[in-house]
Amino acid sequence: MDPQAPVTEVKGVGSVIARRLRSLGIETVEDLLFHCPREFQDRSRLQRIADLQPERHGCVRATVNWVSYTPGFYGRPPKVDALVEDGSGRIKCVWFGQPYMRSALKKGREYLFWGRVGVYKGLEFVNPAFEEADAGDSMPADFAGLVPVYPQTEGLSSKLIRKFVRTALDALESVPSVVPEPLLRSRSLLPRAAAFRSFHFPASKAEFENARRSLAYEEFLVMQTALALMSRSRRNAKGHSIVVSQATDARIRKRFPFAFTAAQERVIAEIRRDLANPFPMSRLLQGDVGSGKTAVALYAVLAAIANRFQASIMAPTEILAEQHYLRVSEYLAGTQVRIEFLRGAMPRKDKAAALERIASGQSHLVIGTHALIQDEVEFARLGLVVIDEQHKFGVLQRAALSWKGYCPDVLVMTATPIPRTLAMTVFSDLELSILDELPGGPRKVRNYWVPTKRRSAAYERLRGELAKGRQGFVMCPLIEESEKLEAAAATQVFEELRGRLAPYPVALLHGRMRPEEKHDIMQRFRAGEYKVLVSTSVIEVGIDVPAATVLLVEDCNRFGLSQLHQMRGRVGRGGDEASCIFIGDCTTEEAKRRIRALLRTNDGFEIAREDFLLRGPGEFFGTMQSGIPDLRVGDILRDEQILRTARKDAFDLVETNPLLSGDELAPLRETLERRYSKKLHLGTVG
Ligand code: ADP
Ligand code: MG
Repeated sequence: MDPQAPVTEVKGVGSVIARRLRSLGIETVEDLLFHCPREFQDRSRLQRIADLQPERHGCVRATVNWVSYTPGFYGRPPKVDALVEDGSGRIKCVWFGQPYMRSALKKGREYLFWGRVGVYKGLEFVNPAFEEADAGDSMPADFAGLVPVYPQTEGLSSKLIRKFVRTALDALESVPSVVPEPLLRSRSLLPRAAAFRSFHFPASKAEFENARRSLAYEEFLVMQTALALMSRSRRNAKGHSIVVSQATDARIRKRFPFAFTAAQERVIAEIRRDLANPFPMSRLLQGDVGSGKTAVALYAVLAAIANRFQASIMAPTEILAEQHYLRVSEYLAGTQVRIEFLRGAMPRKDKAAALERIASGQSHLVIGTHALIQDEVEFARLGLVVIDEQHKFGVLQRAALSWKGYCPDVLVMTATPIPRTLAMTVFSDLELSILDELPGGPRKVRNYWVPTKRRSAAYERLRGELAKGRQGFVMCPLIEESEKLEAAAATQVFEELRGRLAPYPVALLHGRMRPEEKHDIMQRFRAGEYKVLVSTSVIEVGIDVPAATVLLVEDCNRFGLSQLHQMRGRVGRGGDEASCIFIGDCTTEEAKRRIRALLRTNDGFEIAREDFLLRGPGEFFGTMQSGIPDLRVGDILRDEQILRTARKDAFDLVETNPLLSGDELAPLRETLERRYSKKLHLGTVG
């Protein structure tokens, strides 16, 4: 059987089963073989119920006496109880939050149960795993040694999956190794067929680990080879070289009313090196809100303009773009640099004129949203693109691609640091720069957490700060599904606060307002006419108001940790001590960890790490499409060492054999083409 064959080729897999397998991401035989066991049940010792020990793992074969179901109420999860017995005694099994267990167990039938034995009015199994025992002989065929247990899905028991895996393994003929022979040997990896077998039916945990390591390595090697090819094609692309002379450097520095921090100096040097290279820069600049990323980016912009190139700054929202525009205009007042700010709602005539100035090269710097600039603008001589991503990574993918025939240097700024292992996978081809120092030293932020029922106390605290002459932001709950609902929720908070905080003037800002209206409100808040700005998450980042030193977040559990941290970066820039008040209840373990992290540290890198651990890579990048390559076995956190090794091997491979020619590399080449050819334009593979 060919690993690439559809899974329906496996005996016993019909269209119904195939559909269920598909919901697990399994379409081919290979997918099935890569399906990772969740755990192994050591069934070498079946116990009698009478011999079970408290707080240990146990495994019994028992008949179901009765099953009962208690629906959930007041936040308690629904519960299924079952009483089971073997010849020696009986024990209760309890499942929380798994109401379907009610119908999964049949009275009078015999099952194998295994799991932890808890103590609660006697011994009981808590959330035990189970499967129906085979009728007939007392020891089913595969009931011995290590038995793989797979994540279950509706109508697809672990037992059934095990059967299909076994059938597929037995039908497998010669399986060419995707990992080239020399690497298999030098890295002590199992050949593919052996790896598959030990992955599912190992004789020991160690044998399984070895198989897992081999398959993870294969996955990483495929992915990293794709990235190495991408990186190579960028290096071969015809870009341009931007050299910053000493005179230019001095001229640029004069534009800044401060000396750069050591971290900024380090990053500027990195950028200068990239700019001077003849191929396009592709750099990711990470740093907390306020760490001076924009200032560094502006240095690069001025360097490009000094070399007679045009530059562009793109922001995810118009408010942010405008913020950049205002700040940059201030820095560049009195220079020859002509800036173009593109709005969505410009009068048609003005926009046409602006586009014409850009196309003819009269304008040097273009600021606007990603969408606007990428869709509408033709440049005369685009040399540098700065992408402000804040915490939205949607554009990064495109950043690596070419820009309508220009090959600009690309600098992406983000306030959400990306763990290094991730950067090596998803953003592979981006070099990393880190600003790990805030101008003026660490920010002084006091954090408070207030449970919902004590919300009045939070408002009193806000009021106290206003009495000291300060201003504050109030962030309303995020309602991702509907901007309309979000606006409605914000309006409600606004109405309530206006009453409670009187006579302090309060303003409201939400995504459904007209741009001019938003603009006007922002201006008046900045000028101090409004003391409190109630807003939706639409404007969660990017607002600079030095006098604003209080942040109050409503229903903080609706936001991700990194988002909350970024909001925090908006207060306390004036040197005053700032306060952040988070309102919300910690009903889940995750909510608790989130709040604890916020209260524990103001360090963005630590927050990002925690956020990443809490949510995992998929969620962490939320909206980013197809960013994380499909890893079925490899785990970029746990397998960092394997990833590094595979990365090195892949880059070496591409270095010495960029076309991946030769029979030995044929399986790798085919895998790459199958998986990435559409995404990555692997024209060089062939
Ligand atoms: P980011 O883009 O990382 O949020 P900015 O570049 O916008 O940071 O800088 C935040 C604030 O700090 C701005 O008001 C900026 O003028 C100021 N700033 C930046 N670098 C320095 C520095 N080296 N010394 C003093 N102030 C700085
Ligand atoms: Mg900024």
